[in-house]
Amino acid sequence: MSNESNPREVRAPRGTVLNTKGWVQEAALRMLMNNLDPDVAEHPDKLVVYGGIGKAARNWESFDAIVKALKNLEEDETLLIQSGKPVAVFRTHKHSPRVLLANSNLVPAFANWEKFHELDKKGLMMYGQMTAGSWIYIGSQGIVQGTYETFAELARQHFGGSLKGTITVTAGMGGMGGAQPLSVTLNDGVVIGIDVDATRIQKRIDSRYLDQVVDSLDEAIALAKEAASEGRSLSIGLVGNAAEVLPAMIGKAFIPDIVTDQTSAHDPLNGYLPAGYTLEQGRKLREENPEQYVKLSKSSMAVHVEAMLEMKKLGSIVFDYGNNIRQVAFDEGVSNAFDFPGFVPAYIRPQFCEGKGPFRWAALSGDPEDIYKLDEVVMKTFAHNEHLCKWIRMAKEKIAFQGLPARICWLGYGERAQFGKIINDMVATGELKAPIVIGRDHLDAGSVASPNRETEAMRDGSDAVADWPILNALVNVSAGASWVSVHHGGGVGMGYSMHAGMVVVADGTKEAEERLERVLTTDPGMGVVRHADAGYDLAIETARNKGIRMPMIAK
Ligand code: NAD
Repeated sequence: MSNESNPREVRAPRGTVLNTKGWVQEAALRMLMNNLDPDVAEHPDKLVVYGGIGKAARNWESFDAIVKALKNLEEDETLLIQSGKPVAVFRTHKHSPRVLLANSNLVPAFANWEKFHELDKKGLMMYGQMTAGSWIYIGSQGIVQGTYETFAELARQHFGGSLKGTITVTAGMGGMGGAQPLSVTLNDGVVIGIDVDATRIQKRIDSRYLDQVVDSLDEAIALAKEAASEGRSLSIGLVGNAAEVLPAMIGKAFIPDIVTDQTSAHDPLNGYLPAGYTLEQGRKLREENPEQYVKLSKSSMAVHVEAMLEMKKLGSIVFDYGNNIRQVAFDEGVSNAFDFPGFVPAYIRPQFCEGKGPFRWAALSGDPEDIYKLDEVVMKTFAHNEHLCKWIRMAKEKIAFQGLPARICWLGYGERAQFGKIINDMVATGELKAPIVIGRDHLDAGSVASPNRETEAMRDGSDAVADWPILNALVNVSAGASWVSVHHGGGVGMGYSMHAGMVVVADGTKEAEERLERVLTTDPGMGVVRHADAGYDLAIETARNKGIRMPMIAK
């Protein structure tokens, strides 16, 4: 078996003609293919969807075998995927998931990149990231509302509710990081987004996430200052290495208002380019001397974090954006690397306490009209939530679809089940042209254990407890999700996280209605429960108000 790149082009089928024996199998097939759509994936020829080497299938032989298995899968059977390879089909029953996936899981004492690469080279493993290996990636839109919410909350906490007149500096214009420039401009701010790879920056310009690109730091600073002083929003892509550009900014006494980073620092071999190297030189070194590459990459990250710490000292608001760069710098001897906070405890946790997180849906018809109809329904159903309605209006106007038309919307406990039923009814009546796939990121309220990210600084100190994502996956299987996944290492790299994904299909049937009701209750319910158990008042109150039964929390 080989990991060689393969030039073939994969795109999900559209329309109402089935290629499989049922809509749930069809949904899995289309979402797998959609993950690899050249408009969606970062390196589809290598099966890489996003996040360093986050893949949709282990290799092309496995991809073909998955497609074949899905086409033959009966409505009472379940296909098992082990790190991107289809390994079995069992007869289960109609209400059970059609696909179960376990990606990148290693026994804890062996859970590091060295072991992973050894197994990956032997063709025994695949890195699934979060939504890459669990077939519910929808392009940069999948993260854009979360990123928008993060910057909106930052604006509320530090800048009176708007980023107008402020300058943000960040790096990493990849699959997820590429959502940053648009999120800052949606909050009326100015942003300089650094990336070593000009093609990544161009991709963000093509998909309207970024306004313009420059090569010179001086030009970027001048443009940013001018726009900020005029109160104009603007996003500027700067081709450069963050480990060089940030120290150079300090050298020029340019101290941004806000500093963060979304290079793929979680993966020092494939996700971060050492300072002083061109992309080509980096590629060569990675192949010829991976140990040396990792060494240089980690020491560059230490320089990068030191510059972020210095900017914090000089007045910038600095936060870690979920790529584990602080941990690498700390291991490299930067003892105060954790002096700036992660984005979850700083800006997102209250949402998790209400079971809110990156909920999403995609139209299997391929017709944007289906999404626009659902936009209208969201705004009608949740009209009282002005913030959410503003998001939908902006998304409709500013976000270009990638692959199958899709929408992201941070809904919480109760709201998700309510909306799931509405969607299913609209499929049943034919208002929507084809079934809708409903899913979420693994970065959600109750589906991840990641002490340097989603579960950083938990109130009761339970940051590293990984029972929660396992319970999340188990209860979603019991509730009848369409496919469920358990992954390791997503977001922050090998050894640092465990997380689970779920997808449920609204195909308009009565059976789907029941499954949706159950799954869209258990899944966000786990978020409320996880945070209530950790002692968060808002989560305890939510559990009480919504009637979630927790045997050790009084009604
Ligand atoms: P990606 O691999 O698609 O993109 C990473 C980008 O970083 C690439 O464009 C690469 O060229 C660039 N890069 C590498 N080294 C650089 C350097 N030294 N200087 C400047 N640019 C450099 O990854 P992605 O999907 O965009 O994810 C980025 C990171 O963010 C990952 O670590 C991921 O786990 C994390 N992440 C965070 C969130 C969140 O909500 N906070 C969500 C998903 C992912």
